[in-house]
Amino acid sequence: ATAVDVRGVSKVFTTKAGTVTALDDVHLRIAAGEFVSLIGPSGCGKSTLLRLVADLDEPSSGEIEVFGRSPRVAREAQDYGIAFQQAGLLPWRTVAANVELPLELHGVGRRERAARAADLLALVGLTDFARHFPHQLSGGMQQRVAIARSLAERPSLLLMDEPFGALDEMTRERMQTELVRLCAETGAAVVFVTHSIPEAVFLSQRVVVMSPRPGRITQVVPVDLARTAE
Ligand code: ADP
Ligand code: ADP
Repeated sequence: ATAVDVRGVSKVFTTKAGTVTALDDVHLRIAAGEFVSLIGPSGCGKSTLLRLVADLDEPSSGEIEVFGRSPRVAREAQDYGIAFQQAGLLPWRTVAANVELPLELHGVGRRERAARAADLLALVGLTDFARHFPHQLSGGMQQRVAIARSLAERPSLLLMDEPFGALDEMTRERMQTELVRLCAETGAAVVFVTHSIPEAVFLSQRVVVMSPRPGRITQVVPVDLARTAE
């Protein structure tokens, strides 16, 4: 089965300074359960590609399917979880209530929600902070809450844009290991944007290398090869 199918997608932004081709004829197919990293220098279109898959923006041309449907329908069905660099937590909700939000939207009952939120907060090491509010947490801790929230629906696809960027080294390594374990366990596919080649190689089965102006995929490296080349 195919989790994500990107076919000939281009994205052009028009600004006062002119036009920017953020993505130029990008093709990418990600299998169900596959872990793929997107790497490349700033401005090569990694975030744009992820945002298009997440239905946060629309391609200028080309097509995207998520489990065989449009990103919009996939989003409404909550087929995927999102964790971006900016945690994007609701400030007026407690940590636990933020994690429960996707479950609430999906009509999961109160008890089940509380149990799942507790499990997820344990997974990211924030059990003691369930009743805190986001502003009482460090940036790294807020990111961990966002990761917990992205997992709440047990999605078959995770879209992650530098989700560990604000974490200290030790916490990052722990979260990387947990993420790999969790994906193996649940069979979730992941599209993971990172600047870090070691992180991409550690986490993924395939590393997709992009380059800017215009944003293109220049290489797709199976990680067995990347590891051998180290
Ligand atoms: P990356 O995530 O690889 O750093 P981005 O996807 O953020 O790259 O950006 C790709 C290119 O598109 C960059 O040149 C960026 O300036 C431009 N871009 C991204 N979003 C917008 C926007 N909303 N309006 C104008 N230009 C944008
Ligand atoms: P950052 O690296 O952004 O500080 P981390 O998530 O790596 O965030 O936090 C490291 C540790 O520091 C946490 O696990 C926690 O023990 C402690 N910490 C950070 N901020 C707070 C806070 N506001 N209240 C209590 N403990 C905190």
